[in-house]
Amino acid sequence: MSTSSKTIGWGFLFLLVIFIVLIFISINSSKSCQEPLTYRLGKIDERFNLSREEFNTAVKMAAAMWEKPFHRDFFREDADGEIEVNIIYDYRQEATDRLKNLHYKIDRSKNSYEELKSRLESLKAEYEPKKVGLDNDINDYNTKTNALNNEIESWNRRGGAPQSTYVRLMKEKDELAALRENLKARQEEIKTLLETINSLVVVINEIASNNNLDLLDQQNIGSTLGREFFEGFYEYKNGQRSITIYQYNNEYRLVRVLAHEFGHALGLSHSKNKESIMYPIIQSDSLELSEDDVAALKEHCKSH
Ligand SMILES: [Zn+2]
Repeated sequence: MSTSSKTIGWGFLFLLVIFIVLIFISINSSKSCQEPLTYRLGKIDERFNLSREEFNTAVKMAAAMWEKPFHRDFFREDADGEIEVNIIYDYRQEATDRLKNLHYKIDRSKNSYEELKSRLESLKAEYEPKKVGLDNDINDYNTKTNALNNEIESWNRRGGAPQSTYVRLMKEKDELAALRENLKARQEEIKTLLETINSLVVVINEIASNNNLDLLDQQNIGSTLGREFFEGFYEYKNGQRSITIYQYNNEYRLVRVLAHEFGHALGLSHSKNKESIMYPIIQSDSLELSEDDVAALKEHCKSH
């Protein structure tokens, strides 16, 4: 055997390895373009008030957004489908819902960020004196209640109070009961105010993290502050694929966020074009892909 034929042998082996690796890569990543990806519905959090059928319809509409311009199926529902599609309610949806119930207009723009921030400032300005006033009045109430109870006890030890004293004590007792009701109502009001403030902080930070604006100070928010806000998430972990939706503002946005995550499942990354479904922030209610998205998927499928 000459040295050159040995070299050819190694070279051949090397090419064979490359070939096998390429086949392996193409088997693993070709699926989305060659045959439909299968999906199944997973967890549907009942707090969204969304039936399984309604969620399924939204998922189908999201798949159709990709399929329509290509006239072919990219996704197929299957009981054993590969991608689990979930919708999970968390503090983000709760914050959005709470503000919506108060008729706050929320969009994801910089204007909305500034407006919500000034509302937050005025609510905080309202909250602080109310809270101080309430705390003082609660202290007052406790002091008066203790004094009254001590007086009643001491009269009881002496075998009862004279009529006029008794009338005064009962009158004081009634006044304190009314004060107690008033304090309870104010406590509820302040609790609601605080919840609104916390919801504002969550939503403001959501908009901030989506627009590269300043997040609010940590101390304003407590545990939820500083967490990044995502409406949805596509994950490929330990061989398992999943899409999880956390939050949406209306049915169109739900379909759009699902379509965005489906785009990731197809192998697409983010686009810099604001019209694109693959833009990281959902900014429109349109249920059509942009030309950008169509071009990106065409390009992706050329090589997959
Ligand atoms: Zn994304």
